[in-house]
Amino acid sequence: MRILISNDDGYFSPGIMALAEALQAIGEVTVVAPERDRSGASNSLTLDRPLTVRRASNGFFFVNGTPTDCVHLAVTGLLDFVPDAVVSGINLGANMGDDTIYSGTVAAATEGFLLGIPSLAISLAGKAGAHFPTATRVALRLLERLRAEPIRDPVLLNVNVPDISDSEIEGFEVTRLGRRHKAEPVVRTKTPRGETVYWVGAAGDAQDAGPGTDFHAVARKRVSVTPLQMDLTHREQLDAVRGWLDR
Ligand code: MN
Repeated sequence: MRILISNDDGYFSPGIMALAEALQAIGEVTVVAPERDRSGASNSLTLDRPLTVRRASNGFFFVNGTPTDCVHLAVTGLLDFVPDAVVSGINLGANMGDDTIYSGTVAAATEGFLLGIPSLAISLAGKAGAHFPTATRVALRLLERLRAEPIRDPVLLNVNVPDISDSEIEGFEVTRLGRRHKAEPVVRTKTPRGETVYWVGAAGDAQDAGPGTDFHAVARKRVSVTPLQMDLTHREQLDAVRGWLDR
């Protein structure tokens, strides 16, 4: 099994190191990841300049671009094979609910999925990053399942792993995305030269976090697995918008 690994935290991050090491047990691993932290990059592609690919001493490729750039250029030019799976992560911090819209971790997996490859986005749902081994075991388990029994259509799974030890995990739950409250306001501050600048504030708390959601599963120490799709069409609104337009 040939596995392409990427992330949005950067090629040097502890999460991608742990993931690449663990997945060597199940396949041939290639890492192509951003040269710096691109968390929040979403699905952006770099179109206004060329991209460079350099190789670190540990064999990882790093790119002066986004997570989407990394997977795109790996699959469509850099590699001389099509990976059997794309795994993005392990992100330091959860990607649940509307986080998935902004997430570069999810975006790297999405790019694999859009190129027809089964893809996983894996996030450790805690800012401490104390239990990457729990998440690497989850990644291994999912890839073993994929190898033993491929899902017929390409699949995009968004996986969130509680930041607790393996023995405390209460199993897996297949979930839907929850939703957060609206984000905190921007934080206004001054540069040393007196210019007013703004920091984008923290994400809001979970609002729709009821049973069946990713938030709910992770809060109950379960690994959340959400199958995602990329068609943004709001099908239930098609007729309403047609009617509104015709009046
Ligand atoms: Mn990140």
